[in-house]
Amino acid sequence: MSQEKSNRAGGVIRRYAALLPVSGATPVVTLAEGDTPLVRAPRLAAAVGGGLDLYLKCEGLNPTGSFKDRGMTVAVSKALERGARVVVCASTGNTSASAAAYAARAGLRCVVLIPEGNVALGKLAQALMCGATTLQVRGNFDVALALVRQLGESDAVEVVNSINPARLEGQKTAAFEICDALGDAPDYHFLPVGNAGNITAYWKGYREYHAEGQSDTLPRMMGFQAAGAAPLVDGAPVARPDTVASAIRIGNPASWQGARAALDESGGHIGKVTDAEILEAYKLAASTEGVFVEPASAAALAGLIQCRREGRIEAGSIVAVTLTGHGLKDPDAAVQHAPVQPVIVEADLAAVKAAMGI
Ligand SMILES: *Cc1c(COP(=O)(O)O)cnc(C)c1O
Repeated sequence: MSQEKSNRAGGVIRRYAALLPVSGATPVVTLAEGDTPLVRAPRLAAAVGGGLDLYLKCEGLNPTGSFKDRGMTVAVSKALERGARVVVCASTGNTSASAAAYAARAGLRCVVLIPEGNVALGKLAQALMCGATTLQVRGNFDVALALVRQLGESDAVEVVNSINPARLEGQKTAAFEICDALGDAPDYHFLPVGNAGNITAYWKGYREYHAEGQSDTLPRMMGFQAAGAAPLVDGAPVARPDTVASAIRIGNPASWQGARAALDESGGHIGKVTDAEILEAYKLAASTEGVFVEPASAAALAGLIQCRREGRIEAGSIVAVTLTGHGLKDPDAAVQHAPVQPVIVEADLAAVKAAMGI
């Protein structure tokens, strides 16, 4: 395996082929996704109470700026292998950006269904630039996914939402990378939960690596939903999910059972965080560590802050947090909530010095 692991240019399929549903006959459609930075975050750890060994898995560094690329490389490669001609998805934005890019790379047509007026600007720009047929549905994500499920009942069409098992297979590689980097699993793994595919995929990855003897321990899986879109916490679907964190604005998660299993089997915890807590964490990551993420990613950090406050995480723990998407995805949210705003000054030294306060 070490030969494959060292193949950093090749993306997650080549790196972890032995643990993925691919063969020599699979055409590998890759943009060299994965191998994202695991950044140690001592200043952020101190800001959340100290005494933790905190690591940030920066998934915004994937080719299209979110973790969706790990799953998309496998889903689109398998679609090409079986002869599908069109990939379709419903999306709050990042799945559509990723599907559009990998479909372009594969020479396949891409159709994305997104909730009208509710997709962050960067994500919309990505789908459009890659030439995806972009359908703005008059309804929310859950409605769009129900439509896509019906489209999927045709041979030419491949659904690349996380209801496609290939997506979760690809996404589990992030857990492998964390074990490779730390030498074992962390004690706790925090991540935001929307459609719940990613928490399901990480738990699968951790369990498989453990079964393969590549790690000795398993983490507790700690999932966080936005308070206005917390069906897993509340125990029932939410008809009108609402949160600033558009990537997790989902009321009826497709991987409900998978998430429950990950939480129960790992001895984990699912909680919810308010938009105010999400925005606090959003700013904290950028201001303490220079790590700029999108609001949904900050839900995981807000969850960590909440858990520390509630005394759920003992000092000395090794904690990994998946930062699912890049901050540039949602420039409107950033400019609106940033701690500072630009200052206009005259073009002379005295004015600049005065503005600097020196
Ligand atoms: C897709 C996404 C999520 C949610 O992941 P699920 O697998 O749907 O739970 C969280 N954050 C970002 C940035 C995403 O793109």
